[in-house]
Amino acid sequence: MRAAIAVLPGDGIGPEVVGEAKRVLAVVSEKWGHTFTLREALIGGAAIDATGSALPPETLEVARAADAVLLGAVGGPKWDDPRAKVRPEQGLLAIRKALGLYANLRPVAVNPKLLHASPLRPELLVGVDMLVVRELTGGSYFGDKLRDGDRAVDTCVYTVPEVERIVRTAARIARGRRKKLTSVDKANVLETSRLWREVTVRVMKDEFPDVVLSHMLVDACAMHLIRRPADFDVIVTENMFGDILTDEASMLAGSMGMLPSASLGEGKRGLYEPIHGSAPDIAGKGIANPYATILSIALLLRHSLGLEAEARAVEAAVAVAIDRGIWTADLAISGSAPASTTTAGDAVVDALRRGA
Ligand code: NAD
Repeated sequence: MRAAIAVLPGDGIGPEVVGEAKRVLAVVSEKWGHTFTLREALIGGAAIDATGSALPPETLEVARAADAVLLGAVGGPKWDDPRAKVRPEQGLLAIRKALGLYANLRPVAVNPKLLHASPLRPELLVGVDMLVVRELTGGSYFGDKLRDGDRAVDTCVYTVPEVERIVRTAARIARGRRKKLTSVDKANVLETSRLWREVTVRVMKDEFPDVVLSHMLVDACAMHLIRRPADFDVIVTENMFGDILTDEASMLAGSMGMLPSASLGEGKRGLYEPIHGSAPDIAGKGIANPYATILSIALLLRHSLGLEAEARAVEAAVAVAIDRGIWTADLAISGSAPASTTTAGDAVVDALRRGA
């Protein structure tokens, strides 16, 4: 197949981890005979330095013309001045909104070889394989905001169509997995959550009777994610709850450097990025973990290009590299020599070529 992929490396370790992901894409195209046309563009701090904008119009044009967007990370101390008018993160919010990406998918799986890297007891982590679907364009992050003297207001708004579309996305995914959907809300307190629950019940009853639906209050969910994480299959939740719960869930996998994400809208085009940031503390040292970005390539192949076999092969190649003990510093057992970013990339490339 032919596909155009926009590549936005961003700041800090972004270009380092994206570099390894590009090598993996090259092997996929070579091995399966696909033609991927990659176009690079600026976003975040790098774009501010070059153009004054965190999302220059050329970048948006490249992204709009692509079948999928691969992103590294944005931000860093250089652009951290809270009084600054233009900030790197604005680039991220703007591109998600401009491309209409309302569903953020964050799979959390635990590799049995990496149980040592999580702060949780190993026996709790066996069999963890969940996917959090976070609503990305509504709720209090986008509602009206007000500052009036010593009073501040953030408005949380959700509409029926916004809830319907995210629940459908999550339910379709649950149907292809273990058919269990947990909807997380705060319906005992929030009106938006009561609407969320009503709509979820209706959509699931009418359209997905084969998927088992349960509801959980967000505070209870925060506790159960740690107490019995292996019980979860697909979780669907609103913007802020999803933001918080996914950072919590990332600790199950041991490192943020292991977790990929996909942001999807109505069509096939999506944006794929690791969940971690630009990690300025380790940028330029060649030690960042590239696995989350490489696993984001697997999501890109699966969700935007429909290449399931290739996606699985990339995931399997990462698992082989980890099984071989190619662990970057964030995963390594203390005392053992950690792998560099390129060594980890080499191991995935090698496993993929051999047909992992
Ligand atoms: P971070 O995710 O960049 O780093 C948190 C910690 O995890 C650091 O110690 C870092 O070294 C480590 N880490 C992260 N990714 C790693 C990897 N691949 N391999 C090994 N270790 C890794 O979060 P932060 O330090 O809070 O933020 C740094 C900058 O990134 C800030 O400017 C923030 O705004 C930005 N940020 C961007 C995104 C994004 O682009 N999506 C997300 C979060 C934070």
